[in-house]
Amino acid sequence: MSSQTPASSYNLEAFDLPQLVGPVVHEQTVEARAPWSHVVTAGQTLRIIDVGGNQAVDCILYNAADPIERYSAADTMTAQNNVYLTTGSRLLSNEGNPLMTITATTVERHDTIGGACSRESNTLRYGHHTYAQHACVENFILDHTRRDMGKRDMVSNINFFMNVPVEADGSLGIVDGISAPGLYVDLRAEMDTLVVVSNCPQINNPCNGFDPTPVHMVIADPS
Ligand SMILES: [Zn+2]
Repeated sequence: MSSQTPASSYNLEAFDLPQLVGPVVHEQTVEARAPWSHVVTAGQTLRIIDVGGNQAVDCILYNAADPIERYSAADTMTAQNNVYLTTGSRLLSNEGNPLMTITATTVERHDTIGGACSRESNTLRYGHHTYAQHACVENFILDHTRRDMGKRDMVSNINFFMNVPVEADGSLGIVDGISAPGLYVDLRAEMDTLVVVSNCPQINNPCNGFDPTPVHMVIADPS
């Protein structure tokens, strides 16, 4: 199925995913290329499901009570001594506090180095004809306008389901995905966390299999 396929056409039941603990308090499909945000309160788990397969989900986390405290890729990688995110990764803030923990994932690893695509980087990498294509940065800025946030709140992000291998010489690849339809990541909030997502619209490299698709969000509350 392609991005022209509405999210409602995907059969989530067919994935037969393990049950989250506690009742579902929020559930929403994010259409291909769209932004999304929600506060996940401490103790709740957010599940992100890659319904179409190989769909990069760009994500920035903020302390919901004080968004000046936000995700820090550098602190997260340094603390865990690993550039990739996987089960057990604690997603740390710029103040060293855990915002969320990856409690389960069926994808081998997630990226936090590749960054968010922008019109500027598209132009540089793929040519001026891509300048009119909206990118993840535009999605983040658009979603931030809902709560008086903006460009100053853009920081290095997480790319769930995106395959960015670090080669032996230190160079980065953006290569064919290792995700697939029905794979997921579970994130437990360690504090009340504002989760802001860009369901990546990129069509010029393999991060979305050249075909952006919807993702599905589920929040469960075990308390
Ligand atoms: Zn993107």
